[in-house]
Amino acid sequence: MTHFDLIAIGGGSGGLAVAQRAARYGARCAVVEPRPLGGTCVNMGCVPKKVMWHAAQLAHAVEDARGYGFDISNEGFDWAGLAAARDAYVARLNEIYATRLDDHGVTLLKGWGRFVDGHTVEVAGGRYTAQHIVIASGARPVTPPLPGAELGINSDGFFALKAQPRRVAVVGAGYIAVELAGVLAGLGSQVTMFLRRHHLLGRFDALLREGLMDAMEAAGVNLFTGARIRAITREAGALAVHCDGEQIATGFDTLIWAIGRTPNSDGLNLAAAGIETMATGAVTTDAYQNTNVSGVYAVGDVTGRTALTPVAIAAGRRLADRLFGGQADARVDYDTVPTVVFGHPPLATVGLTEDQARDLHGDAVKVYQTRFVAMYHALGARRPRTAMKLVTVGSNERVVGCHVIGHGADEMLQGFAVAIKMGATKSDFDNTVAIHPTSAEELVTLR
Ligand code: FAD
Ligand code: NDP
Repeated sequence: MTHFDLIAIGGGSGGLAVAQRAARYGARCAVVEPRPLGGTCVNMGCVPKKVMWHAAQLAHAVEDARGYGFDISNEGFDWAGLAAARDAYVARLNEIYATRLDDHGVTLLKGWGRFVDGHTVEVAGGRYTAQHIVIASGARPVTPPLPGAELGINSDGFFALKAQPRRVAVVGAGYIAVELAGVLAGLGSQVTMFLRRHHLLGRFDALLREGLMDAMEAAGVNLFTGARIRAITREAGALAVHCDGEQIATGFDTLIWAIGRTPNSDGLNLAAAGIETMATGAVTTDAYQNTNVSGVYAVGDVTGRTALTPVAIAAGRRLADRLFGGQADARVDYDTVPTVVFGHPPLATVGLTEDQARDLHGDAVKVYQTRFVAMYHALGARRPRTAMKLVTVGSNERVVGCHVIGHGADEMLQGFAVAIKMGATKSDFDNTVAIHPTSAEELVTLR
């Protein structure tokens, strides 16, 4: 039986990160993965999504260009052509990931991995032992247990579409629903979003939630709020969404479920090693990514914690630093993680929302905010509003939250996140000279 220092189950963001960092310390490592390397992010997530987001941004830019004197119009969009170019780009990334694994001397065990015991994994009929085993098997989209649910697709299915859907129902109000609805609407599809409550992005600051709803409605997205879906049917070739109260919305050629993701823990035979999961199926971990079984760890989406690629990577790297790099206290800080939702416009957020801050700090919270039309939009027909909020706490006004929606928000927040992580106060922001003319300068001139 082949023995390794570390085996990572899953060749996505977290699994590759832990194995490659451990290999750099001289550990003998293997990654178990049946599919092209890179995981969700590279194959069915961040990367192909961002390509589609850029395409929709360009469609908006063609519209905006008229305000700047260009006599151009959008004469059509080649969905199949873009999908082929996008998939070729992803395939190049898969190769780069394979080469990088090779360069690190990490063995790729091709197949699905399952536990035999706490130190043994079975892959494609072979058994492999390791001192340390890291579960990094990610998550997959949820489909609701409703009649006709199988008539819909999910985000994986979205990336498999060979032609542009024309009338689309998107169910959900989270990251994926917002991003896919934004892409489709930008590229000219008619989109209806079905929200079970009355908000988009429920966990975000109200300023961003409201700004996003306004922007999506202005972009022609139909928001069906308070929708309790009972069934999906196909009638005369079109999909119909049946909701409580006999409400039926019909005429869709495509329905996308975007109602959350569930951890890939069920196929791992965790019971054989006695590894505990939570009710959600997420593998239970402590602050250092340890499971309840000594020598078994979990990182990334399978832990049910902040489901973002850089978080999975950071968790994997810190774990390798701790196990092989002599850094006994290395661990990820899950607080103050910045994140962007690639909507149209994008929105970016770090730290506490105003409501969270008030719950924690009451009257010690002071908020600064602004709303304006970015200069880019001053000359065009589209006038989406940029909105920004700083949430501060205490007499020294430490900035504990920063929230931005609008043109350029996606590239704006990374640097501010560093400052906030370092404990910046409102006066630190005020003492920083603005960069003019930008939207970002508003964050250092808020009154
Ligand atoms: P994954 O990347 O999912 O990797 C898990 C791997 O494990 C997979 O390759 C899977 O095949 C493999 N696997 C599963 N079971 C087994 C098994 N039994 N044996 C062997 N291998 C197994 N995050 C961002 O930060 N920014 C974004 O813009 C962004 N956009 C996204 C867009 C979409 C549509 C989606 C779905 C997600 C997006 N995410 C984004 C989230 C991001 O993709 C995940 O947080 C990240 O991929 C998690 O990494 P991971 O290593 O935990 O899991
Ligand atoms: P999210 O957790 O973001 O959102 C799930 C949404 O589904 C919620 O809005 C919820 O509504 C809704 N929902 C849940 N159950 C139902 C139901 N039965 N019927 C109708 N609606 C329902 O999950 P996503 O799947 O969008 O994304 C998964 C994760 O992937 C994200 O949390 C994020 O961490 C990551 N991701 C990151 C991206 C990025 O960084 N840009 C992009 C895409 C994904 P309600 O709000 O009413 O509870």
